[in-house]
Order: sequence, then C-alpha cells, then structure tokens
Amino acid sequence: MPDWLALYYEEPLEITHGEGRHVWDADGNRYLDFFGGILTTMTAHALPEVTKAVSEQAGRIVHSSTLYLNRPMVELAERIAHLSGIPDARVFFTTSGTEANDTALLLATTYKQSNSILAMRNSYHGRSFSAVGITGNRGWSPTSLSPLQTLYVHGGVRTRGPYADLSDDDFIAACVDDLKDLLGHTRPPAALIAEPVQGVGGFTSGPDGLYAAFREVLAERGILWIADEVQTGWGRTGDHFWGWQAHARSGPPDMLTFAKGIGNGMSIGGVVARAEIMNCLDSNSISTFGGTQITMAAGLANLSYLIEHDLQGNARRVGGLLLERLRAVAAQVPHVREVRGRGLMLGIELTRPGTDEADPAAASAVLEAAREGGLLIGKGGGHNTSALRVAPPLSLTVAEAEEGAAILENALRSL
Ligand code: PMP
Repeated sequence: MPDWLALYYEEPLEITHGEGRHVWDADGNRYLDFFGGILTTMTAHALPEVTKAVSEQAGRIVHSSTLYLNRPMVELAERIAHLSGIPDARVFFTTSGTEANDTALLLATTYKQSNSILAMRNSYHGRSFSAVGITGNRGWSPTSLSPLQTLYVHGGVRTRGPYADLSDDDFIAACVDDLKDLLGHTRPPAALIAEPVQGVGGFTSGPDGLYAAFREVLAERGILWIADEVQTGWGRTGDHFWGWQAHARSGPPDMLTFAKGIGNGMSIGGVVARAEIMNCLDSNSISTFGGTQITMAAGLANLSYLIEHDLQGNARRVGGLLLERLRAVAAQVPHVREVRGRGLMLGIELTRPGTDEADPAAASAVLEAAREGGLLIGKGGGHNTSALRVAPPLSLTVAEAEEGAAILENALRSL
C-alpha cells in the first residue's frame, strides 16, 4: 500500500464490526463512533433494513446498471431527482464522490465549452486528476498540475484569512468583491463548485446566504453553480435536507453531487443536473459499477429509513444539544478557538493558546485521548490540520451524545 494513505492514530485501529453508533476493534474494545457518519455509515452501523435489502439483492441479481433496465436504479433516481429541488432533474450514478465531481466537471466544461472552473480556497473534491485540480486544500493537493484552469475564491473559512472577524454582511460583501475581482473581464469560467459546509476543510463555512450572493454574480455572467453535497446532503446539517438550502434565496444549484453515506456502506455517488446540462454529452458514457442493483437497493432502504425516522430532525435536535454542550466545555479550554457547525456536523478549531496559530499537535493529542476514552472523532482543516470533526451516524441518541460529549470533554481538558 502507498505511503500516502492517511492512517489515523499512532497505533492504527482495526475495526472489525459495528452496531448502531458503536464499533469494535480487533482487541474487543468498544468505541462510540462520532466520525463514521460522514465517511460511510450515514445512518447506523449494520442497519438491519439495509443489510436485508443488500443480501436479498445479492441473492437475486447484480448485472450491468445501464445496458439493461434496472428498476432499483430508476426508483432511486426518481426519488433523488424529486428531493434535489432541481427542476427537470436527471440523475447519473457513480461509485464515489470523486467520480461524481469528475462527471459534474465533464458536464459543466462541455456545456459551457470552457475548461476554467471557480472553486473555493480550502475545499476538497476528491482524488482524481481533475478533482485534485479543483481542490483548494493544500493538505490534499498532491500535484499542482491540472487539466483545468482553476480560480480560487474566498468564503469557506471565517476563522483564518483576510476577512476573519468581519460581520456576516461585511464578510459576504468582501467575498463578492473578491469574486468579481477574480472574474475581471476575462471569458467566464464554466462553473463554481463549492461545498456548502467544507468537510475535509474542518466543517467550516461562510455565513448563510453567501452562495446566494455569489449566484447573482455568476448568473449575470452565465456561470453554473455546482453544490458538492457529498458531506452535507441527506439532512446532516439538521436545518436543511441539502446544504445549498442555507443559500436558497437564489434557488437550487444547477447541479449537485452526492456520495458517501447514502448507501450506508455501499458505494454510491452521483450527479443531479438539469436535463439540458446532463444531456449535453453527445457520445455514450456509462459507469460499470455506478448504479448496480445491489448499491441501489441499499440506497433505497437507507433513504426510506432516514426519511421515515426523520433523521434530519434528529440531527437538528441532538446536534443542537451536542453543540451547546461542546461550547460550554470549550469556553474553559484555552486551546479552543471556535466550536462551529450545525446538525451533526460540528467542528472544533484548536489554536496555540492566546494566538491564531493552528495547533495540529493538539488536534492529534485530543484524537488519541478520545480514543483512549472510547470515542472516535475526526480531524480536518487546512494544510495544518487543527480542527476536530464530529460527525456521528444520523441516528445518534441523546444519551449517546451525552456520553460522547463527556469523553470529548475529558480529552480536551487533557490538553
Ligand atoms: N467531495 C467531498 C466534499 C468530500 O468530502 C469527498 C470525500 N472526502 C469527496 C468529494 C470525494 O469522495 P470519494 O472519497 O467518495 O471519492
């Protein structure tokens, strides 16, 4: 395996099984999982409804997802098209978020006949050549070569950078000015791609309405808006089903991409686009494993579960309690610069006490201490990874939120 795999922990963890919001390691230790929700297991580990759908489908058929009619794919596409808010929507399934964004870039650049793209500083969009080319986070940019010309926009991060400490309105105005300045009088780029809340970047975002303000500038110039909902979709942010809805004043994006947990462990990614954009390609295109019956069966079962159990509402309620609790602890720990986020997508920014300097060593220390206490959390942020990320499965209970907060509290105090 390559050296550049980013294994967590000084003593890497081998996870062998899970149930609900808990996982077990090879030594039999049990952990509360406050990170797996954003990785693969959006809803719950070993969710019986999904396990049943997957095993039944595996015993029936897994065949080409696109050369023959595939009922589970059509059903899931219809549900997602309807939920997306995008009018006259078409859905194309892939196997990962990277491939979903690659497809969105293929569509945008072809539709607009331009290979120039606007992306956000500190963003993450995947690991293919083109996805790396639009990833602003320098910690996840293994090459500066790119098939695309990318212009990076301010707005995803408020704790660092030239516009930190401005009010919401002034922050938005400064970012809009920056965008206009960047665009100048040159030929407009094809699209702006942005995560409504930056995931790998440390669960950070500009104020609500930022992308609506950007949209006005983009629309005047005929530039598309692609929302990368790979981490923010399906109710994770609590207040909204999609992250873009916090910027809804100007309507839905032209395209959105999704992936990760919608299969609750099965590999589903995809793009939703207006028909005229989706259909701009004029040669055949398929994804062999994108949309197979087995992944679609998982997606359908998972989507039904999360809607029937109102997991978006759960993310809002339980996430709100967790945020309150973490803010109270943070006020007493000098390393904590900020506790932010919404729903079950919460970030804790660590700096050297009394400064604005990122403190990656503190982030690693808290990660280790939390593990010792029986809690898995994540890290994120810019090149100097100094934010902690909390993203449990969306079915987290209040008791589990309390239990995890207590462990995290001890870990933070150990700094
Ligand atoms: N977009 C975002 C916002 C992501 O967080 C990720 C994964 N971290 C990706 C795209 C890429 O997804 P995948 O790893 O499934 O290729």
